Amino acid sequence: MNLLRDFKGTFQPFWVTLRNMLRPPVTIQYPEEKRTPYPRYRARMILTRDPDGGERCVACHLCSAACPVDCISMQATEGPDGRRYAAWFRINFARCIYCGLCAEACPTLAIQMSPDYEICARDPLSLVWEKDDLLVDHGGLDNVYNFYHHAGIGVTQPRGSGAEETPPVDVRSLLP
Ligand code: SF4
Ligand code: SF4
Repeated sequence: MNLLRDFKGTFQPFWVTLRNMLRPPVTIQYPEEKRTPYPRYRARMILTRDPDGGERCVACHLCSAACPVDCISMQATEGPDGRRYAAWFRINFARCIYCGLCAEACPTLAIQMSPDYEICARDPLSLVWEKDDLLVDHGGLDNVYNFYHHAGIGVTQPRGSGAEETPPVDVRSLLP
């Protein structure tokens, strides 16, 4: 019986090797051959735009507050029409852990995760990306959503005329 067990123990690994030699290889010859990530893959973030081409980011700081490694910073400012935007917006990808919490926190769909995973660099400073590097000319996963049409802010249209909005009440009409 021991002889049979030893015989099996000796030849079983050879059988495993032989069986796997006949399987098709799973190795991907990167970088010549690139893998397509799954749609929910979380890699480099982008800053997207509204359908009207405006910047979606309203510099609310929610993404930087949600970020566990403090790698997002920005400065808020306002345009002549009262529309808030980020005067500058910076992400340090050398610290980012691609958790996606910033994209989850964003109320305007401005910051979104993209499948661009090729962001390695030898110089850590080159991984500090500014707004111009992050801003794209499309809406990312949602090309229709426009925060200002839902937010009840009289910036892109008169107050009360946005989707799901009712006109504001004239408080003088409530006086006795
Ligand atoms: S993916 Fe995570 S770590 Fe990276 S910037 Fe967003 S919240 Fe911060
Ligand atoms: S990217 Fe989104 S969460 Fe971050 S500041 Fe801009 S609007 Fe706010």
